[in-house]
Amino acid sequence: MRQQQMTRLINSLSKLTHHQRQQLAAALGALSARSQVSEVIEARVLEHPRCPHCNSTAVVKNGSANALQRFKCRQCARSFNALTGTPLARLHLRDKWLAHAGALDEGLSLNQVARRLGVAQSTAFRWRHRFLACPKGVQARQLLGIAEADESYFRISCKGQRGLPRKARRRGGKAQAGAKGWEYTPVLMARDRAGATANVILESGKAASVQAALAPMLAPDAVLCTDGSVTLARAAHALGVEHQAINVSRGMRVRGPWHVQNVNAYVSRLRGWMRRFKGVATKYLDSYLGWFRMLDRFAPTGVQPAQVLGLAIGR
Ligand SMILES: [Zn+2]
Repeated sequence: MRQQQMTRLINSLSKLTHHQRQQLAAALGALSARSQVSEVIEARVLEHPRCPHCNSTAVVKNGSANALQRFKCRQCARSFNALTGTPLARLHLRDKWLAHAGALDEGLSLNQVARRLGVAQSTAFRWRHRFLACPKGVQARQLLGIAEADESYFRISCKGQRGLPRKARRRGGKAQAGAKGWEYTPVLMARDRAGATANVILESGKAASVQAALAPMLAPDAVLCTDGSVTLARAAHALGVEHQAINVSRGMRVRGPWHVQNVNAYVSRLRGWMRRFKGVATKYLDSYLGWFRMLDRFAPTGVQPAQVLGLAIGR
């Protein structure tokens, strides 16, 4: 804008009504939120642009669209921007993304997110799962030193799904004892003493399933600590790793350096945090597990909205 036009614009501001001033302030706020978001998502790609289609670095700037720099790849001739190929591509209302990232940090319910951001609940739901698509895949690949493991059971829920894939439970009916495989999804929870954490949704609570989940994550010299579960003991034996069982059911808590207090505390924090969602649909369980792992990784300082946004696009 020319300086002359700018001066005229500023001079005309005094003619605005109170309501118009509020509208203007909202529009300016949205613009600056949008450029803040662009700054976060473009931070890396502007420095080291790489084609998401063919991975080539032979790329050139090619104008901009929707307030994002566009690039053209010399190798494959396709165009891209910082969001191409990420879970946030083609998601609208970019000026609200940082606020949404903040809502994820706070663990707000869909209802609260919808109200705070002024979006429909269906939008809040779609955004939640797009923002969690990358974090749900982030977890410790390997546990070092003393690794504590436990199996946790999450009640199977078809929340939000039309048509139940199994017989409906009687209203208010309690889950049947001894029918864990049918009523609950088993999840292997593992954490080493440095706080590296992995959660694996198991096909079944059987030793073979636990063993397959544990095999890639235990360093050869790791020591596995469990609460004396037969399944975990079998899996540890089959993998040939040192196993220390603490017989919690007999009142034992700690035996020298051997205990499962880290993993137990983690699971109890996770369950306490999950309570606000009043049951999560089993098909999204991995998203919620990944969400909590993300919060846990940043727990000492708290995660910043810009970091959540960066993680959502896979950084
Ligand atoms: Zn390319």
